[in-house]
Amino acid sequence: MKRVDEHLADILGSVRELPPLELALPESLGGVLGEPVTAPVDLPPFDNSAMDGYAVLAADVAAASETSPVSLSVVGDIAAGDQGAYDITPGRCARIMTGAPLPAGADAIVPVEWTDGGAAKVTIRRPATPGHYIRRAGEDVTAGQTVLPAGTRLGAAQIGMLAAVGRARVLVRPRPRVAVLSTGSELVEPGNAVGPGQIWDSNSFALTAAVTEAGGVGFRAGSVGDDPREVLATIQEQLASADVIITSGGVSMGAYDVVKEVLSGLGTMRFEKVAMRPGKPQGFGLLDDRVPVFTLPGNPVSAFVSFQVFVRPALRALQGLPPAPPRTVRAPLRVPIDSSPEGLRHYLRANLGEDEGGDLWVAPAEAQGSHQVFALSSSNALIVVPEDVTSLQAGQTVDVLELP
Ligand code: AMP
Ligand code: MG
Repeated sequence: MKRVDEHLADILGSVRELPPLELALPESLGGVLGEPVTAPVDLPPFDNSAMDGYAVLAADVAAASETSPVSLSVVGDIAAGDQGAYDITPGRCARIMTGAPLPAGADAIVPVEWTDGGAAKVTIRRPATPGHYIRRAGEDVTAGQTVLPAGTRLGAAQIGMLAAVGRARVLVRPRPRVAVLSTGSELVEPGNAVGPGQIWDSNSFALTAAVTEAGGVGFRAGSVGDDPREVLATIQEQLASADVIITSGGVSMGAYDVVKEVLSGLGTMRFEKVAMRPGKPQGFGLLDDRVPVFTLPGNPVSAFVSFQVFVRPALRALQGLPPAPPRTVRAPLRVPIDSSPEGLRHYLRANLGEDEGGDLWVAPAEAQGSHQVFALSSSNALIVVPEDVTSLQAGQTVDVLELP
């Protein structure tokens, strides 16, 4: 049997980064920057007011207090967007709004709350020191500074940064488009009634959601029965538009393992047994020299674990990100693990928690069958028991994958 690490290395060795595209900012969310972005100008670009108030000479108000307020004449208003029209000289000030450029001569802002709010004359009850409530040009970003390095994943704050330095479009590796297909003649679309021998298709929904959680764009290519022609036609249909294809079911040793049957010999597809539980039967390869195809086992827990262990790192690699699995922590077991299969890497559904002192602990779920979706949906982690370990005592420390 092939080791988990070997299988993952083969996968990562054959996926290529998606070429970066120039996208408008609203389309770039979740993409990964394919270029470093620098600021063409300082941010803020000019000295401006941090408050609604009055632009003054600090020396004029240095002696202002509640008992002896200072009175200044107001030469006019400066709103955000105005161009500095006024020159402030002793005894005068300008009413100014947040974000408006500081007028020449002024060296402090007195917030409106410290004044009587006058329009022609203003009475100021507190002193301000030079620089008070002035946002200086370049105090956020200086011209020429790299604000986002290549390889940054673009979230809302990063998209705001791009717009703030004037970029309308940016070079990004887009989120991979991933087609997800379930196979199995027993499967029924949720929302419809199940008949004898039938179950609702859960894998295509879980895997599509897992793609989104991993930063891709998942779409269900639906669920098809165990009919070779239909399965192949559906996969071929997706090849034109998908960056990745994921199938579930039909890859083990049964008589109707249709995915294996139709894809064997195509492209670089290989069907192998990987030394893990759950998730032993795995298939992977490139079709059309380009599209990575993951054929995951049908049992829902097997499909899910396989996704986290193999597909998620590959989706990250496609975007040029480090191909990390979900975050791994070390935690002591709350209860023993009596038997773990020798020679297989064992992923146990588990709960990771913290005691009152903030120390982590982890406990495996009771139900560890690869069909038991309830145990998976009530877990928040996977305990990873290495191949050569067959039992563990309470208190022993294990690797734990935190589920997204
Ligand atoms: P297979 O890998 O096709 O032999 O399927 C293994 C087990 O997983 C069988 O019990 C299937 O009914 C079940 N299974 C396969 N596909 C799905 C699916 N999309 N949703 C839920 N269960 C599935
Ligand atoms: Mg099947």
